[in-house]
Amino acid sequence: MTALSRPVTGGGHDRSVWRDRLEATERWSVADLRALVPGRDRLLVLSAHPDDESIGAGRLLSAWRRSGGRARAVTATAGEACFDHVGVRPNGLAAERLVEWRAALAALDVEAGTTYGLPDGGLETAEDALVRAVHGSVDDLGGPDGLVLLAPHPLDPHPDHRAVGRAAAAVGARLGVPVWHFRVWMTYWSAPDVDLGGRLVTVDVDDADDRAWEAAVRSFGTQLEPQRPGWGAVVPPAMLAHHDRQLLVLPLEENP
Ligand SMILES: [Zn+2]
Repeated sequence: MTALSRPVTGGGHDRSVWRDRLEATERWSVADLRALVPGRDRLLVLSAHPDDESIGAGRLLSAWRRSGGRARAVTATAGEACFDHVGVRPNGLAAERLVEWRAALAALDVEAGTTYGLPDGGLETAEDALVRAVHGSVDDLGGPDGLVLLAPHPLDPHPDHRAVGRAAAAVGARLGVPVWHFRVWMTYWSAPDVDLGGRLVTVDVDDADDRAWEAAVRSFGTQLEPQRPGWGAVVPPAMLAHHDRQLLVLPLEENP
């Protein structure tokens, strides 16, 4: 970073800060996950912004699809406000981010579902609408049978991620659908002693899933590349470096 560079995103931990906690996690296979939810072969993955699902759950989505499972993604916002805090909202950014999102989902072989059109940066004030929208997505898939919800963790540091995590938990509890949570910014920004309220596990995946994750994440040029001379990236390399494994937070109980 040069003296002229303008960080767009606050700095976070080195990966070593979480090393002990991550090395203590149980190792699960996709077969183990499937055995946890017999009869449920469809993932509905919820994002606050286009890219959450790919960065935080892309390896699992790829592995799930390759094991014969079904997966659909929805996003609450188009991520249009990612530069608001530096005073810029580029024309066409929302459309561009949704193009990136569809390319990433194609790399993961995941179906692109609806975009809710809720306000980026404002999900905490739109939680009723968010919950209704998640219910709608479950209805679009024919109801809760056979479904698992996948969403950012309710303690992921971004307020929008927290709102989506809470909405998923609320809908899952109401409909009896298991909810699995992934991290996006958590290991980069949060302390490793955070109580996640569930079982933090590492999901072992194949090289093909690592490659699919990389291809998906590379789709998000607006997030990975500086968008103005002298700026940093919204998603900096140091944050992406944390995502060298698939983490998942599973419920403590075997059944929802
Ligand atoms: Zn996000």
